[in-house]
Amino acid sequence: MPRRRRGRFTPKKTTKSHGGDPASPTEAEWRSMTEFGSFVVRDEEDVEHIFRKGDDATVLPYKAIVGEELPLHKYWVARIKEIRAKGEDEVWARVQWHWSGHEVAGTIKSFHGASCGNYERIYSDHFDYVSSSAFDAVVHVHKFFETNPNQPYIGKDEFYTRYTFEYKARIINPRPGSGTCVCEEPYSPDDTMGLMHFCPRPSCRHAYHQKCLLAEFKDPESSMTRSLRLLASSPDSDETIVLEDLISSEPPKKKRRGRPAKKSLDPIGVSLEDLLKGMPSGLVLVAQQPIVRGAAFSAGGVSGNVQAVLHARNMVYAALSGTPIPDDWEDNVDIDRAIVRVPGRKPIPAFVCPKCGGAI
Ligand SMILES: [Zn+2]
Ligand SMILES: [Zn+2]
Repeated sequence: MPRRRRGRFTPKKTTKSHGGDPASPTEAEWRSMTEFGSFVVRDEEDVEHIFRKGDDATVLPYKAIVGEELPLHKYWVARIKEIRAKGEDEVWARVQWHWSGHEVAGTIKSFHGASCGNYERIYSDHFDYVSSSAFDAVVHVHKFFETNPNQPYIGKDEFYTRYTFEYKARIINPRPGSGTCVCEEPYSPDDTMGLMHFCPRPSCRHAYHQKCLLAEFKDPESSMTRSLRLLASSPDSDETIVLEDLISSEPPKKKRRGRPAKKSLDPIGVSLEDLLKGMPSGLVLVAQQPIVRGAAFSAGGVSGNVQAVLHARNMVYAALSGTPIPDDWEDNVDIDRAIVRVPGRKPIPAFVCPKCGGAI
């Protein structure tokens, strides 16, 4: 593994632009260089950082000011595809760039860079050679699928990607705004006023701007039934779940075997309300949240609470059918990230999905 002292405060060693470093090897030179699986750079405190083939990493941008702290989202991000060395001391990586929204907007005029978040990157088919001295740190770039009901949580200070970019063909995939609201405006993760409501049903799975729902998609039913109507919107059914129909006629399976069933545990004749009251209150509260994402709901990060709420709903459905709630349910349901709180705003209005009419 070649080693190289990091030159992060020597700008002449950084790449000149996404267009390439004039000092970078030619194709013929590259082919003659020795291949490695990783390289190490030392920072100013002499701490070693290892970079491997396949890693996503931050790269010091061109014109970075010497010695000046740079916010993480200002770094360039690239995937290391190959590593080769020339002689003892010169190490280069062939990288595939993740572009920022503003960079793509500079190439495709119709693309709205402003609807991309600061930490958003667009995985391109654009390659370069980058000197090992320009690498800063290995980072994780989350994949963000806006229509995925199992989308894992993405914090607002984490890199993520939802589009790909074909540089020569000038194509962005998926088309921004597809798979989203009736207005076809894309989700803008850093818009602090923005909130989108997601419908989890299999034939929907679109998110809608709250501002687009306000005029005509208010739930006509009373707010008393709102939480139950939200709970009854399932990722596995296009119909409203009849929660009472899920209630098992069999006694629930006991965690402690060998003890006679107490009459009070027999669900026959027990109401839905009583069964929900017998479950962990945090779990039921999460299951009854609207599925929301947007910077106005800060705790939800970029992805929102979709995965946590749907995990909770599925556990509640299973519990109504007689499957005990696992003791470690909180491992899958982070309450603090799932409960929708929007500072300075009135309670979230009751909305229905413009497509299916379900509570969202
Ligand atoms: Zn909209
Ligand atoms: Zn729907």
